[in-house]
Amino acid sequence: MDKKLLDNINKLFSIRRKIILIPHSSPDADALGSCLALYHFFKDQNDVSIISPNDYTEILNFLPGSENIIIHESKLSEELFKNADIIFTLDFNSLSRARNLSSFITNSSASIIMIDHHENPDKYANITISNPKMSSTCEMVYNFIITLDKSKMNYEIATCIYTGIVADTGSFRFPSTTSKTLKVGSELINYGVNVTEIFEKLHNNFQFKRLKLLGSTINNFKKIDRLPILYTSISDEDQRLNNFKKGDSEGFVNFGLTVIGILCSVLFIEKKDEGVIKISFRSKGDFKVNIFASKYFNGGGHEHASGGISKLSLIETEKKFITDIRQYIKENYE
Ligand code: 5GP
Ligand code: MN
Repeated sequence: MDKKLLDNINKLFSIRRKIILIPHSSPDADALGSCLALYHFFKDQNDVSIISPNDYTEILNFLPGSENIIIHESKLSEELFKNADIIFTLDFNSLSRARNLSSFITNSSASIIMIDHHENPDKYANITISNPKMSSTCEMVYNFIITLDKSKMNYEIATCIYTGIVADTGSFRFPSTTSKTLKVGSELINYGVNVTEIFEKLHNNFQFKRLKLLGSTINNFKKIDRLPILYTSISDEDQRLNNFKKGDSEGFVNFGLTVIGILCSVLFIEKKDEGVIKISFRSKGDFKVNIFASKYFNGGGHEHASGGISKLSLIETEKKFITDIRQYIKENYE
C-alpha cells in the first residue's frame, strides 16, 4: 500500500465511524472471512455492521462473530445505509454481485472501499484495493490489517482470515498460492489458529444425504466428444430427494478435474425458486474459463474458477453450453 493511500485510509478512520461490510451474494468462506476479520478489527472503535445480500451456508457459522451477520432485508438495510460513513465491498468487484444491495451502495453517500482479487474491477469505489494475483481477499485483508495496526491481530481475526485463505486456495494448492500466502498462513498459526479443526468444519461436516448427492453427481458426469471437458448437473428433483442445503454442492465440480487429460469441468445446478441455472466452471493449465463465462453465461471470475447463470431449462442450458464451448475452443485454442 503506498503512503498516500495509507494516509487517506488512516484519516478516514481517525474518528468513530459507522461502517458496513458487504460480501458478495451467497457468500463463501473468503467473502465472510474477510467481513468478519474486519468486523473484529474495527468493532471496538467503530459501529460495524455486516450485511450479506442473501443467505449463506450454515457450515460457516463456526466463524467467530458470525452471529452478527445480518441477512439483507429492506427496512433494516435502509436504516443502516442511511447513516453509514464507510462501506467495504469484499471479495467482489462488480456491483451486480451484491444483488439487491447494489442500489443501496450506489445511492449511499458513504465512502466505498473495495478489497478484492478478481480481474477487471469496476470503478464504483472511492478506494480500490484490487490485486488479481492474490490467493484470496482474506490474504489482502491480512495485509490491510497488518499495515493499519498489527497490534490488533488476534485469534478471532486469524481464524477468519485463515479459513478464507484455505477455502480459496484449496488448502494452499491452487496456482494462486505464493510463498507470501504460505508465510501469511504461518503467521496466522502463531495466533493460535487450529488448522485441523478448520479443515474438519469446512470439509467433514455434512449430512449423509449430501454424500449420496455427491455420488449421484459424480455418476452423472458426461464427456463432450473429442474435447477434454466433463460436465454434470444437479436437478431440482436431485435436491429435493437429498434434502439439499446451501453449500452442499461446494467442491463437487472439482471431481471432473481428477480425470487424466481433462482440462475443464462444469456443474449446472437448477435453481427452481430463482428460475435460473447456476453454473460453475473449473479448469487447469492454459484453459481459461472466466472469459467464456462472461461471454456466454453472463458471469465471470478467475481464470481457473468461474461462475455464470442461464435462464434456459437445464437441458437447453447443457445443449447451449456444448455448442458455445466448441465455438470458444475453435476461436481461442485451435
Ligand atoms: P462458484 O463456481 O464457486 O460459484 O464460483 C467460482 C468463482 O466464479 C467465484 O469465486 C467468483 O469469482 C466467480 N463467479 C461465480 N458466479 C459468478 C457470477 O454470477 N458472476 C461473476 N462475475 N462471477 C461469478
Ligand atoms: Mn475470493
